[in-house]
Amino acid sequence: AIHEEEDKEEDLQSRPPVVTVMGHVDHGKTSLLDYIRNSNVIAGEAGGITQHIGAYNVKLDDGRRITFLDTPGHEAFTAMRARGAQMTDIAIIIVAADDNVMPQTVEAINHASAAGVPIVFAINKIDKPNANPDKIKEELANMNYLVEDWGGKYQSQEISAKKGTGVHELMEKVLLEAELLDLKANPNRKATGTIIESTLDKGRGYVATVLVQNGTLHKGDIVLAGTNHGRVKAMFNERNARIDSAGPSAPVQILGLNGAPQAGDTFHVMDTEQEAREIANKREQLQRELGLRTHKLLTL
Ligand code: GDP
Repeated sequence: AIHEEEDKEEDLQSRPPVVTVMGHVDHGKTSLLDYIRNSNVIAGEAGGITQHIGAYNVKLDDGRRITFLDTPGHEAFTAMRARGAQMTDIAIIIVAADDNVMPQTVEAINHASAAGVPIVFAINKIDKPNANPDKIKEELANMNYLVEDWGGKYQSQEISAKKGTGVHELMEKVLLEAELLDLKANPNRKATGTIIESTLDKGRGYVATVLVQNGTLHKGDIVLAGTNHGRVKAMFNERNARIDSAGPSAPVQILGLNGAPQAGDTFHVMDTEQEAREIANKREQLQRELGLRTHKLLTL
């Protein structure tokens, strides 16, 4: 069966926050994620994360961790809202200080608010001579998003994603927000989580990047993911290192599924392969029938 029993309070342990960066195109989302991925504000683990995967986990000097979802656009939110699953704990909304609060900024703010996800504002490109962070704060205030240094409740940080200025402070603010959320999970149970992305790799077969949200995923586990299933043959972290297990808030690439589940699909670890296959097949059949019915309705 799918294991969905509630965890007892005493089994829960704190877990890292899962963070999404959103904002208007060209305001610096990619630059910020790249800087964090490669930078030396992140402790140890020399060399940074070279490969581009849909999620990665970074460790600060003091050992605290943050997981970043690097999904294009608002996918993470859309998938999360459609399925009622909460993938993102905190949203960083990035706004370029040499521009304005733009339609996509407003949309991102609305998405996060509607999902009840706390926001931290990153006011970017402050290295530019024409940067005007106060103007951005004023525009946010006019939308009823008053930042902390103006007496409001929203944390904000002026940054240069290009130079790295303020990025460490931004991480601190994200972690402060995470502390308030008191995020917890039970590492000692069968894993559950969400598919971030999946592809068919020529050499390796189906590769799925998943976010473990509760429990611990182990090599050899039997996974049911949407209409797909399989035994985890191998697991890799964001540094492409082979790992044997991944706990709460860890993003991990898994090999061994019999297909490519969709982004936003949930996954569960099952007791037997037969059970996983049966449920996957049933779901697929249901999807086919529903698809046929929808098709009939559309062509009526
Ligand atoms: P995205 O569309 O939000 O992912 O934006 P990008 O990260 O691709 O950045 C858009 C452009 O702004 C690129 O040319 C970046 O080099 C530039 N950019 C991003 N952050 C900064 C910054 O902090 N300072 C300056 N001067 N340029 C930046």
